[in-house]
Amino acid sequence: MAESKNAFDVLVLPGDGIGVEVTEEAVKVLRAAGKAHGLIFNLTTALVGGAAIDAEGAPVSDETIRLAAQADAVLLGAVGGPKWDDLPTEKRPEKGLLGMRKDLDLFANLRPAQVFEPLASASTLKPEVVKGIDLLVVRELVSDLYFGEPRGITRTAEGREGFNTMRYRDWEVERVARKAFEIAMVRRRKVTSVDKANVLETSGLWREVVMEVAQDFPEIELDHQYVDNCSMQLIRNPSQFDVIVTGNIFGDILSDEAAMLTGSIGMLPSASLGEGVALYEPVHGSAPDIAGQGKANPLAMILSAAMMLEISCEAPEAAASVRRAVNRVLEEGYRTGDIAERGSSVVSCSEMGDLVAGRLGEAG
Ligand code: NAD
Repeated sequence: MAESKNAFDVLVLPGDGIGVEVTEEAVKVLRAAGKAHGLIFNLTTALVGGAAIDAEGAPVSDETIRLAAQADAVLLGAVGGPKWDDLPTEKRPEKGLLGMRKDLDLFANLRPAQVFEPLASASTLKPEVVKGIDLLVVRELVSDLYFGEPRGITRTAEGREGFNTMRYRDWEVERVARKAFEIAMVRRRKVTSVDKANVLETSGLWREVVMEVAQDFPEIELDHQYVDNCSMQLIRNPSQFDVIVTGNIFGDILSDEAAMLTGSIGMLPSASLGEGVALYEPVHGSAPDIAGQGKANPLAMILSAAMMLEISCEAPEAAASVRRAVNRVLEEGYRTGDIAERGSSVVSCSEMGDLVAGRLGEAG
């Protein structure tokens, strides 16, 4: 049997604002996880976003895309800031990120919503409802209404008319569904496919293809929900879900709804996957209002690195120990300003990184 890989080339793109600060902490934690679990990370750092505009004249260079495509994984902080806000859309920092997602064909966007018990009271829902939530929305990212043709606004005899086209080809559904099933295999082995098959032909095909893919994963429990029901179930009983797989438009809405169950934007990681390299980044932006002050919460970025360990490095134990270390630090009452409560010890971005890395070393 071939030995599993234990050395990984990771492209690190800190970006702008707090992206730089939180990335430093994620790298610190990654190194500690590597030490505890026998994994080696060969890190290459490059520029993206505003930093790349200033130094290289474009938000992402061809060389950076080339480095990304060759790496085992990409860790990205955040891009953007007021300095570049007046540039035309095509030249803005955010364009670098979108260009990279498209060039790398990152068709599956993963947003986990995991409630750390010590933060259960930070959610707007009752603690007994959110307690124990550990779900993952897998959203198709490069098709559906957002990309379907024809689209536009036209003038008719009755006035103006706007139109978009919901369109899915079977292979587009197949590849994202397969990704969701593969991920569910290393989780609790349950997939909920969300569609509107009672009304939409696109959804009818979606459901058919998902059921075909399911035949290759007999260990997985598959169920189907209509999107309106799913949005209600997420609030009513979120702990019923493990992996939710859905199309671009439904996923856009449901992933934000699921994310809010956990309380704070500073806690939310994400991953975007294709057939090759994957990109891991926190959901938040560059937070110019707190950049450079050591106030950023690095946990979303640290948890993005944990996703990288689980998915790209296939090291679920290492990922789990990062999450355990985060939970322990929170249990001990340490908080960055955004999640601070009465009685908690407020720490800086780098102190939070030190604490998590330290607990990892202890936990092994
Ligand atoms: P933002 O996520 O940067 O900030 C929103 C609010 O949340 C701010 O008050 C900020 O201080 C707070 N916040 C965000 N992350 C935090 C963290 N880790 N710890 C503590 N507090 C945190 O969104 P915005 O203000 O709308 O955008 C700022 C810039 O970031 C813009 O240029 C925007 O285009 C860009 N942006 C980039 C990405 C990305 O790189 N993926 C995503 C969203 C926004």
